Amino acid sequence: MKKNRLGKTGIEVSQLALGTLTMSPMQRGLSVDDGSAVILHALTKGINFIDTAQMYGSYPQVGAALQKWLGPEPVIASKSAIKTYDGMMQAIEDCCKALHRKTIDIFLLHAVRDAADLQSREGALNALLEARQRGLIKATGASSHSAKTIALLAEDERIDVLHPMINRDGIGILDASLDEMISFLGKARENGKGIYAMKPLGGGHLRQEAAAALKWLFDSNLADCAAVGMTSFDEVDMNVAITAGLEIDAAFAGKVAGQDRRLFINEMICRNCGACIEACQQGALKPGEKSPKIDHSLCVLCGYCAPKCPAFAIRII
Ligand code: SF4
Ligand code: SF4
Repeated sequence: MKKNRLGKTGIEVSQLALGTLTMSPMQRGLSVDDGSAVILHALTKGINFIDTAQMYGSYPQVGAALQKWLGPEPVIASKSAIKTYDGMMQAIEDCCKALHRKTIDIFLLHAVRDAADLQSREGALNALLEARQRGLIKATGASSHSAKTIALLAEDERIDVLHPMINRDGIGILDASLDEMISFLGKARENGKGIYAMKPLGGGHLRQEAAAALKWLFDSNLADCAAVGMTSFDEVDMNVAITAGLEIDAAFAGKVAGQDRRLFINEMICRNCGACIEACQQGALKPGEKSPKIDHSLCVLCGYCAPKCPAFAIRII
């Protein structure tokens, strides 16, 4: 698989990264054995970049795969939404421990909402800078659904790598148009940021057109790499083939795309507390009589709502 350098970091990543949110307990909930098998399959197929996060709960799957893998060490990115210095240092330490590593390649501020949120995470960012200096991580980063936040981060010299929401149809991009996001990413690239795209398939909305959506991203040259959540050998095989520019058999593509997913709120156990509505940056949840109503056309399956639920009522099925 083609590899690209991630901005100025010197880190080489495959054009396709494996995202582990979809296999995590927040979504499909693959067992450690099944999840690590998918990761090992992806590594065998030439993917060398695995994306995880403190919030996902996918460290056990990633850690198990890394213990079994005998090839070159893959690149690992993780993230934490913690705001404090101590909390971020602990998050890095916990990640190293769980993944049996002394160094995590890239550690990001997770899901920065806006300028005020970035400001409130000064402590966490200082921890990332300190960790980079001490060799605990190789690069700092930040992920965001917000185009205006990406514009800010593009100019921030403390940040090495960006993980922005970007896809062909602009699904899930907050507070600006797709064209504006494209221009902010162009600026970020000029400034030497490494960029790996989040939700190039629109959180599942573009699954039926996966080949065209990934081709759009690769042709656009907006990112060094696209992170796609994969939970089966078939998904890995299809996305690897698309990335290699191969023709995909229509029946096979249909079978993979047919594994559709949706957010589900269990009305029977929902306490209608509204915490998930507050957590959703996409405006996909609205107050309802017994439980929040889901607007599936706005939901990008980012999973931010589920960990906020005190009743474990939210699932992606
Ligand atoms: S409803 Fe939940 S999964 Fe869907 S966009 Fe909102 S936070 Fe993300
Ligand atoms: S956070 Fe959970 S309990 Fe609260 S409204 Fe949302 S689904 Fe219901």
